[in-house]
This record gives sequence, C-alpha cells and structure tokens, in this order.
Amino acid sequence: MTTTCKSAPVLKERGQREVFCGLTGIIWLHRKMQDAFFLVVGSRTCAHLLQSAAGVMIFAEPRFGTAILEEKDLAGMADANEELDREVARLLARRPDIRQLFLVGSCPSEVIKLDLTRAAERLSAEHGPAVRVLNFSGSGIETTFTQGEDACLASMVPALPQTEAADLLLVGALPDVVEDQALSLLAQIGLKGVRCLPGKRAELDPAVGPNTRFALTQPFLGDTHAALVRRGAQHIAAPFPFGAEGTTLWLKAVAAAFGIAPEVVDQVTAAPRARAEKAIAAAATTLRGKSIFFLPDSQLEIPLARFLVRECGMTAIEIGTPYLHSDLHNPDLDLIPAGPTISEGQDVDLQLDRVRAARPDLTVCGLGLANPLEAEGLSTKWAIELVFTPVHFYEQAGDLAALFARPLRRRATLRGQHPNMMEAAE
Ligand code: SF4
Repeated sequence: MTTTCKSAPVLKERGQREVFCGLTGIIWLHRKMQDAFFLVVGSRTCAHLLQSAAGVMIFAEPRFGTAILEEKDLAGMADANEELDREVARLLARRPDIRQLFLVGSCPSEVIKLDLTRAAERLSAEHGPAVRVLNFSGSGIETTFTQGEDACLASMVPALPQTEAADLLLVGALPDVVEDQALSLLAQIGLKGVRCLPGKRAELDPAVGPNTRFALTQPFLGDTHAALVRRGAQHIAAPFPFGAEGTTLWLKAVAAAFGIAPEVVDQVTAAPRARAEKAIAAAATTLRGKSIFFLPDSQLEIPLARFLVRECGMTAIEIGTPYLHSDLHNPDLDLIPAGPTISEGQDVDLQLDRVRAARPDLTVCGLGLANPLEAEGLSTKWAIELVFTPVHFYEQAGDLAALFARPLRRRATLRGQHPNMMEAAE
C-alpha cells in the first residue's frame, strides 16, 4: 500500500509550458558573486527581460549585460565569435574588478549554434588566469527559471581545485543574511570551516574531492549535484531546510554525516526552533484546512508542499514540478502522506483543466497564469516570489508561511469575510 508520495505514481506531461527562462537566475547570482560578470549572448528580448527583472538604475554599473546578436549574426553574415571576443576584451579593459566572466547562452545563440564552450576556452586562454571565463545556457528553449543557477554552478564545478580534506560544502546561492544564519547554526553544532558554492568572490570558491560531503540548500540543483558526484564528492540526502521541521531534519542529516548526534542538534536549535514554530502557527491559522495546487515552475514545489502539509495543515491536491530528481526530492516526498497527484513536466492546458475542476483555495504558478486564474476567482501565489524572498531556515519560516497566507487573507478581505470563515460562507 502506498503511504507516502515517495512511492506514488508520477504523472509525466510533455507539452506546452509557461515558465520564465534560465536568464532570470542572473538577477540573484550577480548579487551573490561580487566579482562575477554575466554576459548574455542574446537578443534585445533577453536584454529587456534582465533590465526589467533586475530594475537596474541607469547610473549603476551592473554586473550583467547582453551582447546583442544582430540580424547579420543570426543570418550567418558576420562572425559572431570575432564580435564576442572584441566585446569581451572591451568589457574586461573597462572593468578590471571582474574575476569570473560567464558567457550565458540564450535562445538566439542556440538557434545559430554558437559554441560558447569553445568561446569560453578561447577567452580563458586569452584573459586567464586573472579572469576565469565559463559558460552556461539560460535559454528558454531548454531551461526553466531556476535552472539558470543550476547550470551556472554546474559550470563552475570542473574548475574547482582538488582537495582530500573532509570538508562540508553548502551548495546554493542563498542571500548573505540567510547563509550567515546557516553557517552559525552549523558552527554551533560543531561544524566549522564550512565552504559555500558559489563563494562571494572567486578566491572564496571551495575545493572539492572524494572526501567532500555536500548539502544542497536549493532543490533545483540537479546538474550541480551530478557534477559534484562526478568529482567524487558525497551528497548528504535530506529534506530541504524550509520550515522548523525541514530545517531540523536538514541539520540532523548534515550532523549525522559528520558523526554528530541528533541530540546535539536538538539542544543547539531549541530556541530558534521554538521561535519558528510560533511564527508558523500564527500564519497557519489562515492556512489550516485549505487546499493548494502547485503548477510546475520554481522546482521548490515538493519541499514547499511538505512544509505546507505537515507544518501548516494544508491539503495538497497536485504537486507539479518541472523535473523530479529522486536523489534530491525523495527525502521530502517520503514525508508527504499519499494523496496528492505528483506530476512532472507540463501540458499547461490539461493542467489548467485540473485546476479548474479542483478549484483549490490557493494555486502556486508563474506570473503569466496568475492573473487569468485570479480573474476566474482563484487565489494565486507567484512562484517567482518564493525564489526572490529569503525563505530558508528557522528565522524565515514564519515569513514563508505568511507568503502563502497573504493571498488567502487578501481574498477574504475583498469578500468582507474572516479568512477562516471562507469555506463556511461558500
Ligand atoms: S533566452 Fe530566450 S526566452 Fe529567455 S529572454 Fe532570451 S529569447 Fe526570451
């Protein structure tokens, strides 16, 4: 008998999908990696996406830009490689602070089959060792928006130095304040000298080897996970650190990998855990008993569903994810009681039919689908907000629950009802 979602059948769909492309990751990556520059090799559309998403002031010196492929490049009438080399030389001469340069592929660079791997090798030879040039794809043809970070970190792994040290590596670009909280909790349970990927600057990037153990902080890092395993590093499988329970289980899994007893974690985390539980309980009064439907978007869907079901009392109808990596997602799936449909990939029309039939209290989806669903009387939560807001670990657990409670409260207010009275009134 199926008792948890880990052994539930997966509904796989391959059809039209509605998601942002992987270029979006540049918005948070360029803030995290302070000496990196992201050069998108793309079109004016790509430049507009980045400019509007990042909200850059014209007088700021952003650490991303777009080398625009003009029509003559797309028609094969100009040598795009020569132009790219020229642009890179100009950029590096003007910005001597750049230590890592990422050439980021887009739909147009893919369509004309511009080989950015070879371009990165050529430019690394020319501008290294002062500047390391790497490449990854953020193209909307093949990526969803959080895959940009995964592709970026995966591109860094082969270039990391080798080590035999038995270090702990935290993998995922967290906001600095959240990363500091994680490092502080780990230090308190006895794990010091923890390294992070990505580092804030190139010289802080970690070394990796067969004795490295790594814990992911983001559930969308499937390619980075594979790249680290190829370097011999060992993955610490754990539920993701969302909510009080998720954070505690994540810390206990990391502690166990280094021979530290769970009681040490319980002792060290008692106070922040109690604060988190209290903050979650406040938002859970609105969430308890409500139903939720996740459309596949951020790849955070499975651990967030686990948090909302177990810690906030919600009922999940469908948990959709763009990709299901069992190595990454099984610990969370194993905590969700059987019942919801687990779906991978998207056929947006079929999925919207299921949303309309189920009429969930809350639907988590991309920006493009949220407004039409709101117009049909359904409350929505933008998936992208969950990536741009600090939501990991104890101190953010109450804010995470509140993010889901807010749209329900807003709709109840618009209807002039108390949020807990909605069902009774319908
Ligand atoms: S990479 Fe593709 S989907 Fe993304 S902005 Fe550029 S053209 Fe659009």
